[in-house]
Amino acid sequence: MKDKIWLSSPHMGGTEQQFVQEAFDTNWIAPLGPNVNGFEQDLELFLGDDVHVAALSSGTAGLHLGLVLLGVKAGDEVICQSMTFSATANPITYVGATPVFVDSETDTWNMSPQLMEEAIKDRIAKGKKPKAIIPVHLYGMPAKMDEIMAIARRYEIPVLEDAAEALGSSIDGRRCGAFGDIGVLSFNGNKIITTSGGGALVSKNAKVAEDARFLATQARDAAPHYQHSQIGYNYRMSNLCAGVGRGQMEVLAKRVEQRRNVYAQYENYFAGKKGITLLQEPAGYFSNRWLSTILIESSVAGFSREDLRLALEQENIESRPLWKPMHLQPVFDGCAFYGDGIAERLFADGLCLPSGSNLADADMARIFKAIEKVIGQ
Ligand SMILES: *Cc1c(COP(=O)(O)O)cnc(C)c1O
Repeated sequence: MKDKIWLSSPHMGGTEQQFVQEAFDTNWIAPLGPNVNGFEQDLELFLGDDVHVAALSSGTAGLHLGLVLLGVKAGDEVICQSMTFSATANPITYVGATPVFVDSETDTWNMSPQLMEEAIKDRIAKGKKPKAIIPVHLYGMPAKMDEIMAIARRYEIPVLEDAAEALGSSIDGRRCGAFGDIGVLSFNGNKIITTSGGGALVSKNAKVAEDARFLATQARDAAPHYQHSQIGYNYRMSNLCAGVGRGQMEVLAKRVEQRRNVYAQYENYFAGKKGITLLQEPAGYFSNRWLSTILIESSVAGFSREDLRLALEQENIESRPLWKPMHLQPVFDGCAFYGDGIAERLFADGLCLPSGSNLADADMARIFKAIEKVIGQ
């Protein structure tokens, strides 16, 4: 069997082990320390916009804390992009609130601002104004943040921006993660950079980041004994993981370039092939191309997304259908949904192709050869 080609695998830069070694040498083996502070500063510098960052144990923890900090409580409703990974929506239920799902639009595959406003109006008419809005930058493509923020401001609803897949993406030079009232990043093993597992909460408000650090370390009040006046969490990032993160930040720009290069190769390969479309960047939008994705219109292409996925699997090459929308997930059965079939079509026709920054030319050649077999039929 040939070596497995993964969808997206960790890609170390080289200096990560030095930062981890430093942690050992100084015995900072805890969910605090110089690497945690250093990693937060690296992220603040990269994101710009005077943001403040709290490094956490995961992106999911960041979304949970984000909802807590925005004051979302049991019985509330939260508007959430339907086309996404379950980790976007699950934290809504952690705080006892209910998701209201909104469909995607076709330019970015992210939350449709029009349908979002429709949902807001309808929920208000039904007697409950949503307490927060969670848009997502899927596969690194920025959502229509200017439109989404403008509508959210008009209705005075805070935005929790799920930028887990979009570190390095931007709109007109403004970085994803810094658009919302609170932004969330992920450094899971399959993301564009990784800390093996980790995440971060981002805010322009220093107090919000400070409160996130406080809640993430069991909400300990200032006292010599253990004193608590709020429910806390154990969500802080380990100093060892943050060491990996500091090393990864040194190569982030390169990783974005490499992923974009993988995408460019697919774009070049599929040019002129009938029934296959790729997701183009709208003017001013810059995607980190975390994952390269295609849509296959089977009636035109002569084969389906599943035909191609199975052919790649035969060659030990991993590919995956696009995210199955949350409003179609059994666990969210019965939740409200505002949409017109876009996310459903994306799920039916879409495939994520191997996209790692560490894909060698020989890997790409193997992938194209496997695709050729299906297209050539
Ligand atoms: C990965 C991911 C998350 C969760 O991040 P973790 O660090 O794995 O908890 C949330 N939302 C989206 C869209 C993701 O891709």
